[in-house]
Amino acid sequence: MHRRRFLQSGVAAVALAGFGSTVSAQSGSDYRPGGPWAPNERAVNYEAYLDNEQLGERLKQVDRRSDRVELEQIGESAGRGDPVWEVTIGDGDESLHLINQIHGDEPSGAEAVVKILNRLASGGSRRVEKILDNLTITIVPRVNPDGANFVGDDGLGTEGELRQRRYNTSTWEEGDSRYINANSYYSGDVPGYDMNRGFSVFPNFEPFDEDEDWWTVLKDDPQFGYLDIPVEEVPFDLRDPTVDGDNPYKVLRSVGLNLNPENRAVTESFLDADPDWAITHHHQGPTVDPESPDQGNGPQWQSIMSVMAPFGPRYIGLDGVDYASYVGSGNPYMSEDAQTRSLRLNQLVNEQAQQFGKGKFNTLTRYGYGPLWGSYLDALCPQTDAAGMLYEVSHQSDQRGHKAIGTTVKITVAGFMATFERIADGSISEVDELDYFDMPLAQGIENPFGR
Ligand SMILES: [Zn+2]
Repeated sequence: MHRRRFLQSGVAAVALAGFGSTVSAQSGSDYRPGGPWAPNERAVNYEAYLDNEQLGERLKQVDRRSDRVELEQIGESAGRGDPVWEVTIGDGDESLHLINQIHGDEPSGAEAVVKILNRLASGGSRRVEKILDNLTITIVPRVNPDGANFVGDDGLGTEGELRQRRYNTSTWEEGDSRYINANSYYSGDVPGYDMNRGFSVFPNFEPFDEDEDWWTVLKDDPQFGYLDIPVEEVPFDLRDPTVDGDNPYKVLRSVGLNLNPENRAVTESFLDADPDWAITHHHQGPTVDPESPDQGNGPQWQSIMSVMAPFGPRYIGLDGVDYASYVGSGNPYMSEDAQTRSLRLNQLVNEQAQQFGKGKFNTLTRYGYGPLWGSYLDALCPQTDAAGMLYEVSHQSDQRGHKAIGTTVKITVAGFMATFERIADGSISEVDELDYFDMPLAQGIENPFGR
């Protein structure tokens, strides 16, 4: 019998994600500022991260040094025209696709990948050999070079202050699509797209060819709308027999438009890799670890990372799992096999984190899952029946001092390496997927950005 901690603790529902929403969970009311994981313990220092040029140099260095690595430029960013890189390593039968930093202010996945590539490219251990023999790993180290290297007032400069931000710097122009996709477009001083809302469930989608009826146009600003596609138009099979004839969705809400060159490059990379496994790395806002020790009036510990597995009807119906009513049947386009593998993929990283022992590294939490149809996981995984995983290490780069970088990179390296190893040696199949639901649900202090 599996325990369900989140039921015991009375956390019934997490309204996650989706539509620009927040991790509202139970609250935040019990968070006390100034905890060991409070933001801004040191001044923000973007110099601590690899800029686009440095990242490119590091990748080329690994490529030159090792014939195990294949480096390819698969696109360029919309604003700066900086390279979007793809690295492939290993030649095994299992294919894994991994993307980092689709949100520019979420850099630690890219940093972790550089460390890992160095290990895999030159290491001679049995561990490394096993990974390379059994896995083909395709990595897009930095999907959003514009957001990662936002320089000067318009983000496009070469000199001046470097900042990081969530969006790229692509501007919507009349004719790009019928309406501006309110789900993905940021119309601030320097407009841009949230590219994790920008993928299309149609891999060859041509914006502006979309059916006008698919749009829900906003009354207060009729230039903007949401692209909701009727289920019968969706190109996926309903793979899971249990939802046949009982599809809870009339439309897939907030599908992306594939407008951005970065989204198109990632889509192509994904389809070429034909992955069995797909991982996307992010950062999150501050999140309480609900199982942190009672320290009286002392601060609660924060979660070092939240994870999220996409899944569907096979698990939604289980006692204790149907916790988010709007989720309906989860993702109805995943096979039962992919659902199970997704839960294992996420839980194995939790198991790995627990090996650090009591302290800040074993404080993993999970998100309740609801499909976000313009996202990498929900738009692309069904294309190849890939299992999926979302990483969200705590704090965007403008909320954390540089002392924290080492910590978020460390948990990421540990998670990625454990994942590669356990897929390679087959032991991922020994993970009990239901243990995933024992991970405490993330209780957002606040997450103003969603995922
Ligand atoms: Zn993100």
